Amino acid sequence: MPSPGITIIGSGFAGLCMAIKLKEAGYHDFVILEKDGDLGGTWRDNTYPGCACDVPSPLYSFSFELNPGWSRLFSPQQEIWDYLRACVDKYGLGPHIRFGAQVSSLEYDDERATWRVSTADGDSFETHAVVSGIGALHVPSLPDIPGRDRFTGTAFHSARWDHSRDLTGARVAVIGTGASAVQFVPVVARQAGRLTVFQRTPPWIQPKPDVEIPERMRRALRTPVAARALRDTIYWLLETRAVGFTIDPRLMKVQRRMAERHLAAQVADPALRAKLTPDYTIGCKRILLSSDYYPALTRENVELVTDRVTEIRERSIVDATGREHEVDVIVYGTGFKVVDALNEQRIIGRNGLKIQDAWRDGVEAYLGVSTAGFPNLFFLLGPNTGLGHTSVVFMIEAQVRYVMDCLRLLSRTGAGAVDVRPGAQRAYNDRLQRRLDRLVWTEGGCTSWYLDEHGKNRTIWPGFTFEYWARTRKVKPEAYELIRPSPARG
Ligand SMILES: Cc1cc2nc3c(=O)[nH]c(=O)nc-3n(C[C@H](O)[C@H](O)[C@H](O)COP(=O)(O)OP(=O)(O)OC[C@H]3O[C@@H](n4cnc5c(N)ncnc54)[C@H](O)[C@@H]3O)c2cc1C
Repeated sequence: MPSPGITIIGSGFAGLCMAIKLKEAGYHDFVILEKDGDLGGTWRDNTYPGCACDVPSPLYSFSFELNPGWSRLFSPQQEIWDYLRACVDKYGLGPHIRFGAQVSSLEYDDERATWRVSTADGDSFETHAVVSGIGALHVPSLPDIPGRDRFTGTAFHSARWDHSRDLTGARVAVIGTGASAVQFVPVVARQAGRLTVFQRTPPWIQPKPDVEIPERMRRALRTPVAARALRDTIYWLLETRAVGFTIDPRLMKVQRRMAERHLAAQVADPALRAKLTPDYTIGCKRILLSSDYYPALTRENVELVTDRVTEIRERSIVDATGREHEVDVIVYGTGFKVVDALNEQRIIGRNGLKIQDAWRDGVEAYLGVSTAGFPNLFFLLGPNTGLGHTSVVFMIEAQVRYVMDCLRLLSRTGAGAVDVRPGAQRAYNDRLQRRLDRLVWTEGGCTSWYLDEHGKNRTIWPGFTFEYWARTRKVKPEAYELIRPSPARG
């Protein structure tokens, strides 16, 4: 393919936001490489029954593309996917997307100050800058249980739902009780003959204030002022939830009381309640929202098993007590490979530096966007920019604006590339980790996908989101080295 000035990887919220902002700035020389055959990332892959966002839709959408048509406060997957498609149409992004193009490697050319992008289908081209929007919750994680491959029934991960398998009357097992499982378990419980839910660690769950948005209100939301006011109200309400996360875990008590009351109101049986009561500080793992998960577990045809799964056989699951549960279908609600997804890429930066070597002591970036030694490579939703309390689309927009500012710095100075200075990256991450050390994710007494193998939090932004917004508002030129291509080759 011809050499595009900028290459965007991924067509989820992040990649599309970057593309829209480039176009708005009058920049058309870019390509979006998407490994799948369709756009939408998370909202294309997760088609499980009950799939919806858990941040209200007026905030879980682009600030510059408010949608008055959401049918519910927490919209279902199909609507969010349709919304992303509508954005692609409106901003004319279609011709820029190349489907079935999985980026297999990125190699920086020191002399030309450019990147060579290679895709799995054997294509390879040069580009000036790369923006990675590959998503953090993207690669399904399957548990390492002996005998998993021996199972002869139907088995699938929640992000690869097998809709051809009718669950009506079937004996279904769900392994895992995370954010996806609490959404699909209530639906599966209504269909299955028997449902066994295998829980390793109970999540803290608060009520989900989901409501239909009536037509009258949708009409009112067509007025931009009303739509903006609703969005802003939700933003600030959710930001107050961040107080306990960002200041002191002891302030999470209010959140805990809310979750405990929810459990007590929905589960009368003390034994089941005990099994569902977490023993770690709330917020240490993602707080889930659901008003129908607990009632589903109290149904006659549903059993919650808290004994560890030790083995999977041809047609059954064995737990740590030796009990064998016969099943026809296994659904893995076991989440995603988060830190590994970033770390497993083949990216070679300045002077042959491999990203794995740069991240030997842990995945990190300056502001979550730039990593020293990898000029003009920008990460969207990169290290330590995930959130537990509000919409990541807010973070994506802040990052896209920041990348645009980096590109402006390049055109202003005539430099070929910007590379964050190692000192700036070090100082930023030292401060970040010092802050994280005393917060709930580290102090809360749980293991979670937020932490890497050294127990360091490499995923979450430990502050209010307006702090992040303020820090990424303008690029500090002194934090970056400006690189000029060698005159002979440039
Ligand atoms: C079920 C579910 C519900 C969620 N609900 C919420 C919510 O309510 N609120 C919230 O804030 N967040 C939520 N999230 C997190 C969600 O992932 C983000 O909000 C957001 O969708 C991330 O967008 P993204 O563009 O960064 O990544 P993704 O949506 O994952 O998109 C990444 C894209 O990159 C492509 N890609 C990856 N690698 C390559 C490669 N090598 N080459 C080419 N293409 C590649 C993928 O195919 C994909 O299309 C949810 C996540 C899940 C799984």
